[in-house]
Amino acid sequence: MAAAARRLLLPLLLLLASLGRAAAPGAQELRHPPARIGVIGAGIGGTSAAYFLRQKFGKDIHIDIFEREKVGGRLTSINLEGRYYEGGGSIIHPLNLHMKHFVKELGLSAVLPQGGLMGIYNGEEFVFEESSWYIWNFFKLIWNYGLNAIRMHMWVEDIMDKFMRIYRYQSHDYAFSSNEVLLHALGGTGFVRMLNQTIDESMQNAGFSQKFINEMVTPVMRVNYGQSTSINGFVGAVSLAGADSGLWAVAGGNQLVCSGLLQASKAQLIPGTVTSLEEKTRQKARTGETLKQYEITYSSTAGITSELYDIVLIATPLHRKIANLTFRNFNPPIPDFSSPYEHIVTTLVHGQINSSFFGYQDPSQFSLSAIFTTDNPKLFINSIGIVSPVQDKMNQITGPPVWKIFSAQPLTKQQINMLFSSYDSIAAKKWLAYPHYSPPEKIPPVVLRDQLYYLSSIEWVASAMEMNAISAKNVALLAYHRWYKEEEMIDQEDLHERLKTEL
Ligand SMILES: Cc1cc2nc3c(=O)[nH]c(=O)nc-3n(C[C@H](O)[C@H](O)[C@H](O)COP(=O)(O)OP(=O)(O)OC[C@H]3O[C@@H](n4cnc5c(N)ncnc54)[C@H](O)[C@@H]3O)c2cc1C
Repeated sequence: MAAAARRLLLPLLLLLASLGRAAAPGAQELRHPPARIGVIGAGIGGTSAAYFLRQKFGKDIHIDIFEREKVGGRLTSINLEGRYYEGGGSIIHPLNLHMKHFVKELGLSAVLPQGGLMGIYNGEEFVFEESSWYIWNFFKLIWNYGLNAIRMHMWVEDIMDKFMRIYRYQSHDYAFSSNEVLLHALGGTGFVRMLNQTIDESMQNAGFSQKFINEMVTPVMRVNYGQSTSINGFVGAVSLAGADSGLWAVAGGNQLVCSGLLQASKAQLIPGTVTSLEEKTRQKARTGETLKQYEITYSSTAGITSELYDIVLIATPLHRKIANLTFRNFNPPIPDFSSPYEHIVTTLVHGQINSSFFGYQDPSQFSLSAIFTTDNPKLFINSIGIVSPVQDKMNQITGPPVWKIFSAQPLTKQQINMLFSSYDSIAAKKWLAYPHYSPPEKIPPVVLRDQLYYLSSIEWVASAMEMNAISAKNVALLAYHRWYKEEEMIDQEDLHERLKTEL
C-alpha cells in the first residue's frame, strides 16, 4: 500500500475503532447500579462483606448493616477483673491473607498468643507432654508415633497450598455460586470428597495410624471445634492448620477488625433485630419494567420498621436459635436450615490450677500452660490453657495466671473446685459456636434467590474468621457479577491452569 493511502486509512481505522467501542457498551452501562444493599449481621462475615461490597459497587451505593447485639458477633472479649480476654474467635493462621490485609489496612497490629508447654491428657494420665527441650520433644514424637507428625505437617501443607488458590482467584475477581463449586475449583474432587468423609477416615486413607489420630488429632478437634474426629475432613484439616506455629491475634481484640471494617465501608449500622424478609415485586412507572426487591423488617428501640433493598446478604447462621428470621411470601419457600449447632462454654478463671487433678503429686513439677484432651466421656473439659489480656501482652497479671477453659456444659462450682486449688474470680460465656459437623455434609446454598445471598453457608465447610471473610468476598463478587450479568466471571473451570498464564 502506498504511504499516502496508509496515512489516509489510519485515522479512519482509529475513528471506526472508537465508534465501535461507543456502539458496544459494557454490560455495566446497560444496567443501573443497585441503589440499596442490606447486610444482616455485623460479625466478621457481615462487616467484611460491607467492605468488599463498597470496593466493588463504588461510593454511591447505600449499604445498611443490621446488628441486634454487638459489632463483632462471635469475635468478642470477656471482662475479668477489668482486663479483657478473647472469648470467641481467638487465633488467626499466618496464611489467613484477608485477616492480615484487614489488620494492615486498618492500622491495627498483631500479637502472638501466650506460649508455653503443652500436654495431652486422656482422663487418667498424660499421653504426651512437651518439655522445654525441643530435641527431646522431637524424639518423643518419633518414638510414640513414628513419622506421623512430620507427615501430618506435609499433608496439611499440601491442603493449604491448594486452598491458597482462592486469593489468586479472588484477586482476579472470580466468584463461585456455591461452596461445593468453590472447593472444587481449589482442590478438585479431593476437596469435595473431604466434605463427605470424617477427618478420621480422610487421615486413615492417607495412611495415618489410629493411635496418632486418637492421641494427637482428636485433641486438636476438641479444642478448636468441641467435637471429635467424626467432623468432616475439610474442617478437620482447617483445625489442624490451627495447631501450626506463627498463630496470631489482633492487639486490643479481634473485634477491632469488625468495627474498623464497618467504618471503612461507610455502611450505616442499624441496631435492631431483623425479624423477617419478604420478596416484593413492583413495576417501574416510567418504563413498566418489573423490579424485584427484598423488604427487611426489623425491631429496634424505635419500634418495628421495614426497608426495601435491591440486594440482601445474610451474614449470620440461619438457625432458629440464632437468627430466627422468617421468610415471607417466597415461592417456593426458603427451606429451614436449622441443623444442630455445637454448644460451647468459654470459662475464664484467675486462679491456681490444681495439678493433682491431672495426676501431679508435686505442684512444683507442673509446668504446662496448655492441656488438651482425648475423647473420654468422663472428662468435663475440652481444653484448658493460660491466656493473656487482649490489650497488652506485657500488662501481665500478678499472682496466678488466667486460664481459659472450653467445655460442652457450663462448669459447676464443684468442677471448678476440682480444677483449681484456689481462685480469685471467674467469668463465663455460653455459645452456639459452630455447626455440629456430620459428614456427608449438606452445605446450604449461597444463592437463596436472585440477589438474596447466604454468606454464612460456608460455615458448614468450616467455621473460622478467614473462611467467613473469604465467603464475604465471594458473595460481594457474586452479587456484583450477577447484578451486571457478567456470567463469564462466575463458576469458571480450570482457573488454576488459566491464571498460570496470565500476568
Ligand atoms: C468459642 C469460639 C472459639 C472460636 N475460635 C476461633 C479461632 O480461634 N479462630 C477462628 O478463626 N475462628 C474461631 N471461631 C469461629 C469464628 O469466631 C466464627 O467463624 C466467626 O466469628 C463467624 O463470624 P460471622 O460474622 O460469620 O458470624 P457472627 O460472628 O456470629 O456474626 C453474626 C452477627 O449477626 C447478628 N445477628 C444474628 N441474627 C440477627 C438478626 N435476626 N438481626 C440482626 N442481627 C442478627 C449476631 O448478633 C452476630 O453479631 C470460634 C468461635 C467460637 C464461638
